[in-house]
Formats: sequence, structure tokens, C-alpha cells
Amino acid sequence: MRQQHYLVPTLRDVPADAEVASHQLMLRAGLIRQLASGLYTYLPLAQRVLKKIQDIIREEMNKAGAQELLMPALHPAEIWQETGRWDVYGPELMRLSDRHERQFALGPTHEEVVTGLLRDEVKSYKRLPMTVYQIQTKYRDERRPRFGVLRAREFIMKDAYSFDTSREGLDESYRKMYDAYQAIFSRCQLNFRAVEADAGAIGGTGTHEFMVLSDIGEDTIAYCDTCNYAANIEKAEVNQQEYEQVQGSGLPMEKVDTPQAKTIEQLAAMLNVSPSQIIKAVALAVDGQVVVALVRGDFELNEVKVKNLLDADVVELLDEERIRTELGSEPGFIGPVGLDGCKVIADYSIKGMTDALAGANEKDKHVVHVSVDRDFSVECYADLRQISEGDACPRCAGTIHFAKGIEVGHVFKLGTKYSEAMGATFLDENGKEQPMIMGCYGIGVTRTLAAVIEQHHDEHGIIWPRALAPFDIHLIAVNMKDDAQRELAEQLYTQLREAGYEVLYDDRQERAGVKFKDADLIGIPLRITVGKKAGEGIVESKLRKNGETQELKAEQLIEQIP
Ligand code: ATP
Ligand code: MG
Ligand code: MG
Ligand code: MG
Repeated sequence: MRQQHYLVPTLRDVPADAEVASHQLMLRAGLIRQLASGLYTYLPLAQRVLKKIQDIIREEMNKAGAQELLMPALHPAEIWQETGRWDVYGPELMRLSDRHERQFALGPTHEEVVTGLLRDEVKSYKRLPMTVYQIQTKYRDERRPRFGVLRAREFIMKDAYSFDTSREGLDESYRKMYDAYQAIFSRCQLNFRAVEADAGAIGGTGTHEFMVLSDIGEDTIAYCDTCNYAANIEKAEVNQQEYEQVQGSGLPMEKVDTPQAKTIEQLAAMLNVSPSQIIKAVALAVDGQVVVALVRGDFELNEVKVKNLLDADVVELLDEERIRTELGSEPGFIGPVGLDGCKVIADYSIKGMTDALAGANEKDKHVVHVSVDRDFSVECYADLRQISEGDACPRCAGTIHFAKGIEVGHVFKLGTKYSEAMGATFLDENGKEQPMIMGCYGIGVTRTLAAVIEQHHDEHGIIWPRALAPFDIHLIAVNMKDDAQRELAEQLYTQLREAGYEVLYDDRQERAGVKFKDADLIGIPLRITVGKKAGEGIVESKLRKNGETQELKAEQLIEQIP
């Protein structure tokens, strides 16, 4: 690509409104431009990197047996009404109507659309399991779009959905996606951790977030320095104004007395475990009952242990299956808990709602009959009190550390929440109708791009990992007016491309200083400079990552490319 006519509008100065490195560098290196709050144009350099990230994702998804499709971004309201999420998703859902006044939403996620599709097209156990995915534009009216494309209102996501006939099948589909995510983020050269995340919000009981370690991350991760224990600790801030707003919104809330509510210490004593072994206590508002889930230090994600503390004296652990059979309900409908000293945690998007509930969360009281969905989670995390920096790990003899993380991916076991709501069933071996058992798996593609820059830059600019670089080589002719330089550069431009390299050729009539500064800013891994020694057939190579320079004979360039 000839830079003279390539749309790479680099900037010398740091844009005033860009707070974080990736946002500043994406603007300065000519990768993005803002159209409006949370809406960005990806310029040609960024688009090339996005394609490479998408290629990696596609390869790993296909390898895991997932099949690519493409669903509409525009969703009729009816499909969201079927699951009830039209009402509970809140202001983050972008809503609009057509010329006939029919209501639509711009998809923030596709559980409804994909569940409707499989319901209509797959009827027999013989066709399952099946995992489908798409790479597609999502819309979320974020309360606070910020940090450039890290939290945008329109962004690209890879979203996958698995459909199984059994819990074991779901575990297997989940594992495949989990492994694929490990491979994808490793290939993107990210320093990341898969952390146990809040299961409540999306209505499932197994979920991991893939967190890129970064000081600008909005999530806090507690991780062990010895074993692989890592968990997300989300923070809730109480905002009085929102609290009042939601209180006035007529949400169905009601307080009930729960004198039997236990403190973490009491629960620990009843279970004969140490308080630090209790990772979190969650109140589940299951069909109006309030139960408390205890997730112990040694828990398996598919064995959430639940106990109804309202009318029982002896604490007993229930697994997921028993929640279903004995309580007759899906685990995962989360209401706030009234344990002493607990905090109420919320997804940012519905902070208002949860803040309202936090306000209602008095000692020995519970709020019941709350319709909860994926964007609404209220939890009581014992680990907020029990685990802090420097503590003993709940699983081994190691020490807990805290770090900030950027959520680039998220995998969930959904269970039958959506298939039951939408009647997505299959006929089993005995001809009996059963709901499909689902999982969903997201990757923020555009967020990943920014996260890579967060982790790969220096004071001069971006340092692309090879696998993602927009070009392999940045070829620079120092002085285009010098015949020897121009001719050699032109010749190398052709040869390098013929040898299979992707080359950005700086053929602009700019000062050398400007070209070098731009090259450092853009961050292509290898720079080949054709300068004063062009007449002798000598060029200079320079590695962006460590500045290592070498003089090379132009004739032998291709064999010697580092
Ligand atoms: P967050 O906690 O950052 O708001 P989320 O948990 O709401 O993200 P998911 O519903 O899990 O997001 O969506 C899957 C992935 O999509 C996320 O892991 C993230 O990488 C990406 N993503 C979500 N919201 C945005 C956004 N506003 N801008 C860019 N990427 C996003
Ligand atoms: Mg969100
Ligand atoms: Mg999140
Ligand atoms: Mg998430």
C-alpha cells in the first residue's frame, strides 16, 4: 500500500478528550475517528487489524466445531417480549419504530433471535449438539460510553450459542468454547486471565470472563499466586439520583422479614467450613421464595450449592439438579440478600435498579418478586469482606492479589432459560419433548483491538504483535526526490510483495523525521529504510519492538528479513 494515497491521518498531539493510551494512540495513529459519542469509524489500518483478529476468531471457532452464520441487527420487539427482556433490559436497549409504528430494537446480543431460529429449524435430538456463531455489529446505549472503542455504543462482537440435549453436553460445548477463547487471546498476544464471574445476571450457573490485565480495566480481579483461582469482584456505587428514579418507576418490589437470615460467620459455622471458604452468598428469588446459594471454596461451577434458609434449621447443600427438582425452578433468578455486612453488586447497565434494591436491602429483610434477567444481578459477595489483597487463597495455600482487568470475552452456561421461555424444544430418544440446553459465548472484537494496544505500546506509539499487525513491513523512502532512493524503494516494494509480505510503503514527500515518527506511532513490526546508502544498495532494518537496527544489502533483503 502506498502511503501517499492511504487514509492514515496521524496526529502529533494527544487529543484532549482521550484519557487512556489505546484511545489516544488509535486517534493519533489514524486508526479511528469518532462520529458521535460511542460511535466510531474504523479507518483502513484499524480495519486490517480487525480482520486479522476476526480471522483468528474464525479459525478457532471453526476448529471447535462452531458454524458461522449472520443474524439481523434489527430485531422486532415481539421476540424480546417473548422472553420478557423487552421490559427488563432497560435503557441500554436501543429501541426504534418503523413507518408503521411497529417497535424494534437494535440487537445488543442475540439469544432471542438464535433461540427462535433453532426452535423453528431443529426438532430432534439427532441434530444436536449444535454451536453457531456470528461476527456482527451490536448496539448498546451505554450509560457512559468511554475510553474510545473499549466501551462504545456500536461495536463488533463475536457471539456464539450452543444447543445441547443434556447438561453434560452443555459442559462439553462450554469447555470447547473456553479452550477456543484461551487459544484466541493467546494468539492475540494478550496477557489475560479467565476468571470466575457472576453467574446470576444471565440466568446460568457457570460463567467465566476473559480479562486482559490492565490498570485501566473497569473490573477488579482477585487471583491466587499459586493455583489458578481467579474471580471477578464487581463494585457497586450508590447513586442517590438513580435510586430515586427507579424507586419512582413502580418496579414490583416488596420487603419481607427474614429473621432467619444468617451472617457469613453463621453460615460458615453451620456448614462446618471457615468463612474464607465461602466465596459468595447469593439470594435467589425463586418463584417468590428466597434461598441462599453458598458457593464454597472448592466448588465446581456446575454444582452451585443452594439452601433455603427461610424455613429450614439445618443447612444442607443442594446442587443444580435438586434446585430444579425440589424447588421446582431454575437456579439463577437473583434477588438481593439481607446478610449482615454484605454488599449489593450490580451490572453497570442496570445500576439504577440495583441501587434501588440496595437501598431496600436492610438487615434481616429481603426483596422478593423481582423480575430479574441478564442485565439485572444483585449479589452478596462474601469475598468482598472475606477476600482482600494479601489474604490466603480459598483453594490452596497461596496468596490473593488484586488486579484490574478489561473484559474481552465472556462464556455462560445459560441452561434452559431462553429455550423454555421461547418453546425451543426437541424430541428426545423416547419421543418426549425437552427444552434445548444452551450456552452463549461473546468476544468484544473491537474491544480486543483496543486491549491489544493497551498492552503493546511505548511512549512513541503502538507496537503491533506480528499476528495482528496491519502490515508486516513499513518500507520508508527517506527522500523521494533522490532518484537512487526512490528507484530502490520502488523495486523493494515490488519484490517484498511478490515474496508474500504485506507492505506499507511511505512514498510521501515528507521530512525524514515526520516519516520516522509516524512509523513509530503506527507500530508496524519491521521498518526498512531506504536512505543515503541506496546508491550502494544498502538499506536499514529496524525492529519496532526493541529498536534493533541492522544494515542489510538490498539484494539479500528477502533472505535476511528477521
Ligand atoms: P461490560 O461488563 O464491559 O459492560 P458486558 O458484560 O456487558 O461488558 P457481554 O454482554 O458479556 O458484555 O458481551 C460480550 C463481550 O462484548 C464483552 O465481554 C465485551 O468484550 C464486549 N462488549 C460489551 N459491551 C461492549 C461495549 N459497550 N463496547 C465494546 N465492547 C463491548
Ligand atoms: Mg455491559
Ligand atoms: Mg461484564
Ligand atoms: Mg459480560
